[in-house]
Amino acid sequence: MSWKLGEVAGIGVFVHFTFFLLIFVLGISYFAQGGMSAALHGVGLILVLFAIVVLHELGHAMAARYYGIRTKDIILLPIGGVARLERIPREPVQELVVALAGPAVNVALAILFFLLLKATGRSLLPDQNLAETGFLAALFGANIGLALFNMLPAFPMDGGRVLRALLAMQMDYVRSTRVAASIGQGMALLFGLWGLFGGGPMLMLLALFVWIGAREEASQVVLQSTLAGVSVTRAMITDFAVLSPHEPLEQAVRLTLDGFQQEFPVVERGMLVGMLARRDLVNALSQHGASYLVGDAMRREFHTAQAHDLLDVVQLRLRETGDASIPIMDQGRLVGLLTRDNLGEYVMFEAARKGQEPFANL
Ligand SMILES: [Zn+2]
Repeated sequence: MSWKLGEVAGIGVFVHFTFFLLIFVLGISYFAQGGMSAALHGVGLILVLFAIVVLHELGHAMAARYYGIRTKDIILLPIGGVARLERIPREPVQELVVALAGPAVNVALAILFFLLLKATGRSLLPDQNLAETGFLAALFGANIGLALFNMLPAFPMDGGRVLRALLAMQMDYVRSTRVAASIGQGMALLFGLWGLFGGGPMLMLLALFVWIGAREEASQVVLQSTLAGVSVTRAMITDFAVLSPHEPLEQAVRLTLDGFQQEFPVVERGMLVGMLARRDLVNALSQHGASYLVGDAMRREFHTAQAHDLLDVVQLRLRETGDASIPIMDQGRLVGLLTRDNLGEYVMFEAARKGQEPFANL
């Protein structure tokens, strides 16, 4: 759940509701430490920090725009920000520039705050007590910290992309992703050990975050390269059951138990009119019983793909919508169903055919 804060350069900036929770908790802890003025100071500082994170993400977005890549939105989470680019550039130089643009914003801001501190003759070092630290010194330190943290050479940090882009200038994209992911996982292991032997739980959490990020990036890239340029008809199911909107849910329950299918296209007079997912079925069953009609329980709004679409594009759409399957259409007629499961099977067989280890997990 996110709220829209506003728009910058045509890109929506959203804030996740857990972010307000963070502000609230920090505000209370500052208040307990030093009263109202400390609370205002602390919360003010957090808000400015997040404005800096937005600028960092805008750095990525503007660099991407330079290469004609749109940014869907920027989301602020308690752990930082995410600029959701329409795609990651495959051209190593472009990926390098887009990845560096975020930390570059922090370096520029750090220089700005450094000059302001010099001009006002204040100390550079932040105080022990955050609530009493000078605002400028805190912002200078935060920008240095953000630049260094983001340049750690591990996915999902910007440094991971920088590393991959540099490797991709020497070797192919999939291989460089695997190498960058392995380096990231090696680093995660070191962080984990460091956390375990005295570094504290935050480091262990970071290690876990980096480990998962590396794995996800690698499997997604291997997956996309396996699926690139392949027609969706190669992997879709053509033998599947459909429902009529006038049938009772009882029929959907029977079909689910009889086979492997989890989502059913609902067809009326040869036209696809809805999709009945497992969760829709279960919800309607518990609320209205088994004689309730499929047509009243189905979703009327759903995504479709065309038979001439390519698998890598459709996989991205499935990933974004979170649906378990997507109906495949050809000239307005339903011709197939692509599910996450059979996509996974396709990837497994393709990997086996090429003698690779099946790396992708869906
Ligand atoms: Zn970044």
